[in-house]
Amino acid sequence: MPATGGAPAVAGLQAGASRFNPMATLLDGRALAAEIEERLRSVIAATLARAGRPPGLAVLRVGDDPASAVYVANKERACIRVGIANHGAHLPADTPAGEVLAAIRHLNADPAVDGILLQLPLPAGLDGQPLLAAIDPEKDADGLHTLNLGRLLKGEPGPRSCTPAGVMALLARAGVKLAGRRAVVVGRSILVGQPMALMLQAADATVTVAHSRTLDLDTLTRQAEVLVVAAGRPRMLGASQVRRGAVVVDVGIHRRPEGGLCGDVRFEEVEPIASAITPVPGGVGPMTVSMLLVNTVASWGRRCGLDLPRLA
Ligand code: NAP
Repeated sequence: MPATGGAPAVAGLQAGASRFNPMATLLDGRALAAEIEERLRSVIAATLARAGRPPGLAVLRVGDDPASAVYVANKERACIRVGIANHGAHLPADTPAGEVLAAIRHLNADPAVDGILLQLPLPAGLDGQPLLAAIDPEKDADGLHTLNLGRLLKGEPGPRSCTPAGVMALLARAGVKLAGRRAVVVGRSILVGQPMALMLQAADATVTVAHSRTLDLDTLTRQAEVLVVAAGRPRMLGASQVRRGAVVVDVGIHRRPEGGLCGDVRFEEVEPIASAITPVPGGVGPMTVSMLLVNTVASWGRRCGLDLPRLA
């Protein structure tokens, strides 16, 4: 499944063997993200004169959530690297909903803006649903607008949810075959689990979605040939819950009390039995940012009437 509807899968390069298990492929999101950025940079540079303006992304941040500040800064730095103009804004935590809505409408109407992202979480008291729904679906850089989730469900082109699209790009890059394989997605959020399951299904995997009420999760995950874990529970899954030879994608990202980051999977246990695995950090995270850039550049192409080459 491509990051944007209709585009072919990521061009295959060699996937590196893991440092720990010479048989396991390390699904290196950092390397693939750098490769996609290089491609975007050259597409933008080659097309800028015809377009008459650079692609534009607006990341709208409300309040002072410290993790969001880091994520937004990462996204803005990535934009600068590839040549996307930054139209972002930072509003105070006590901004009334009406003013946030007005800011979104202003960005919807701004011809220089191709992508809009409302950074979550919002401050307590601000309901995200009507605000997310107000984003012009054609500028929905996150691919989370109801219309775009519907397009994903129906297999129609449109911006795809960034994190699962990034996972699909990583799997394609490593040459992981999905057709006919048994995939299990742990987590059913709108942000990750649900669109992930739809994308795997669209790639002809047979998909089961697990959640907090699933009975006997271990039996289910042990059946997975492709296991995507997005439960938001630090180091929840270990080797006894994973089938030997499985492809394991860890979406989780957590700050450890002792410092550093970890995922939902106990990497050091699972890596020796997996055929391929994402590290945390350096797996899915960088791909999420890449897919945001891809969605923005694809929107720029559509809005400027350009026939762009493959972006990811
Ligand atoms: P979320 O909205 O909290 O959803 C978590 C999902 O996991 C829910 O569907 C929940 O089930 C399920 N779950 C929780 N505990 C479980 C358990 N013990 N067994 C089975 N299922 C369980 O989280 P999210 O937004 O999807 O994010 C998931 C993780 O991915 C988080 O760590 C987040 O930080 C990370 N993330 C990373 C990136 C990235 O770029 N790397 C992007 C987005 C998110 P119920 O539905 O029953 O509650």
